[in-house]
Amino acid sequence: MPRTSYAIAIGSNRRGRHGSPAQEVMAAIRALGGVTAASPIHHTPPLGPSKRRFANAVTLIESNEAPPALLRRLKGIEHAFGRRRGQNWAARVIDLDIVLWSGGSWGEPRLTVPHRLFRQRDFVLAPLVQVAPDWRDPVTGLSMRQLYARLRRKR
Ligand code: ATP
Ligand code: MG
Ligand code: MG
Repeated sequence: MPRTSYAIAIGSNRRGRHGSPAQEVMAAIRALGGVTAASPIHHTPPLGPSKRRFANAVTLIESNEAPPALLRRLKGIEHAFGRRRGQNWAARVIDLDIVLWSGGSWGEPRLTVPHRLFRQRDFVLAPLVQVAPDWRDPVTGLSMRQLYARLRRKR
């Protein structure tokens, strides 16, 4: 696979070995490698059943991996950070999701790129517009700036 770029969404709402959720996010950015841009960390009110505040960020990375290989590596980092199976919305040390790929779309039950929910998520789009405002979503044709403006209008 020739060198391609990805936008990765990172979230944490639980302390881990690196410290606070924000410190977990920063450690994950270091662990990713190939980072060409990183948004500031956003603090997001809890979602779903959890009462814990999230730290979120989006990074751009360059990689030679195809999407399935990258997903495997992200899962390895999640595991190394102490995330265990079944640790879901409630409290998680780290979540690493592939949001966008410069190669376009990837469709598989276990791996959908662009991420199927990113267009509705303020905690993804707000940091994403800071690092890739002009990146176009291959599904809707809209730029990240446009997707974020659309989401804000709906709120
Ligand atoms: P959400 O997808 O709503 O953000 P989540 O990140 O909490 O939920 P996980 O438990 O991290 O969900 O992942 C569940 C499964 O989603 C993973 O095992 C993975 O196979 C699958 N998946 C599908 N598309 C993607 C993607 N673009 N990035 C990461 N995981 C994905
Ligand atoms: Mg997620
Ligand atoms: Mg995930």
